[in-house]
Amino acid sequence: MTHPAQPTASHFINGEYVEDTNGTPIPVIYAATGEQIATVYAATPEIVDRALSTAKEAQKAWAKMTGTERGRILRRAADIMRERNHELSVLETYDTGKPLQETLIADATSGADALEYFGGLAGSLTGEHIPMGEDWVYTVREALGLCVGIGAWNYPTQIACWKGAPALACGNSMVFKPSETTPLCALKVAEILHEAGAPAGIYNVIQGMGEVGGALVTDPRVDKVSLTGSVPTGKKVYAAAAEGMKHVTMELGGKSPLIIFDDADIDNAVGGAINGNFYSSGQVCSNGTRVFVQKGIKEKFLARLAERTGNAILGDPQDEATSFGPMVSENQMNIVLGYIEKGKEEGARLICGGKRADMDGYFIEPTVFADVTDDMTIAREEIFGPVMSVLDFDTEEEVIARANDTEFGLSAGVFTNDFSRAHRVIGQLEAGSCFINSYNDAPVEAPFGGVKASGVGRENSKEAIKHFSQVKSVYVRMGDVEAAF
Ligand code: NAD
Repeated sequence: MTHPAQPTASHFINGEYVEDTNGTPIPVIYAATGEQIATVYAATPEIVDRALSTAKEAQKAWAKMTGTERGRILRRAADIMRERNHELSVLETYDTGKPLQETLIADATSGADALEYFGGLAGSLTGEHIPMGEDWVYTVREALGLCVGIGAWNYPTQIACWKGAPALACGNSMVFKPSETTPLCALKVAEILHEAGAPAGIYNVIQGMGEVGGALVTDPRVDKVSLTGSVPTGKKVYAAAAEGMKHVTMELGGKSPLIIFDDADIDNAVGGAINGNFYSSGQVCSNGTRVFVQKGIKEKFLARLAERTGNAILGDPQDEATSFGPMVSENQMNIVLGYIEKGKEEGARLICGGKRADMDGYFIEPTVFADVTDDMTIAREEIFGPVMSVLDFDTEEEVIARANDTEFGLSAGVFTNDFSRAHRVIGQLEAGSCFINSYNDAPVEAPFGGVKASGVGRENSKEAIKHFSQVKSVYVRMGDVEAAF
């Protein structure tokens, strides 16, 4: 019997599901059991061409609609997503393995927020009037044209919406390629946008591995590329986009610092460290995986952390009581287990976890290492799994320098009850998305993105509008033209 997660077809192009079984089969594996629940096929060159040409053509009429008309469609799509939240969350859980307890509140709901927010902004995207004596200049905020979105596997619905909503609000069309690990959810986003009234061809989804992503990025019809992925992929995609002088947004990886001063509320700080390391089983780009704890409270912090981590409920992700799911894939599980071994070998002190859980699926126990030093592999490389490194520090000055000593710069957090210190420290941290006495909040109203190797551009908020539009300026002369001859 066909599993309920099996999509109608692999691709969604020009307002309808499209199948082409000539492409490489991509098995969809449910991470909690290891069983294959669906199959999709990678886009063949013909499918890539069809998606791009349909999106290129459809964009012109879409950009001519008023912003209010476009926004109405996005807001309708937001309502449909909220109405179907349960069904979409179940699918997200099949796609990623993340527990339903999380997906019910963090995925389709976050996607709906983006559709609603950018739907609301669409009618307000105006230019400026610049007086020049009798003459004047006016500016027009125009769409870029055809945008490509390429997603990572940790938040397939959210990423499809965070890219699609601002792109469409500005009058662009989109071809979105989800991660080959989680190909299911973006198809639902396309289906819902179509149902909400988006004209055929405005938002298309095609499947495939890096090769299909590469074909999209290098196509001369494409005006912008927005990628969520790792730094190595980001470097390749950025370089390929530069070749065609395309606009880019790069949302890449991190190894973010979370700094806990000894005057912090211990339970809040432990809660922040748990949210910043174990949510989505640690598969979150902005995670605060280097937890710097001031020496005075270190042992107290570790004891409370170990106690609360022991309360994680590993189990069937479709059971709402489960609070901790598996790694997205066997491959990701093996990568993370490799890092855990490295941590042990390099002399970090294991506080809890440290191994694969004794159950079906790709579960790894939430793992905490203490006495981690700056040079250890687990403190330098992005692990993308439930592995927290706790490092000690003495002074504010020292911890700022150590926190910034990384190629990454996505996020940073500070826990302290001294608010002038909180702002002073955050002001010196090299990171794009920061938190004071909190961690990993990502409301659509706030800009999200990294500095240094963690990315270029911003998603969400009014900032995203700048990255999906361009400004035309028009000089208007009222008098005669003077010329030298
Ligand atoms: P990945 O870099 O392996 O793949 C990301 C996407 O890029 C996939 O869809 C993949 O098929 C595609 N791709 C790979 N090679 C390509 C190429 N040459 N040209 C075009 N496309 C190509 O990342 P992943 O393993 O799917 O996701 C995990 C990574 O994503 C982590 O590093 C994580 O930090 C990062 N991430 C960042 C954010 C953010 O917003 N900053 C959010 C989630 C994940």
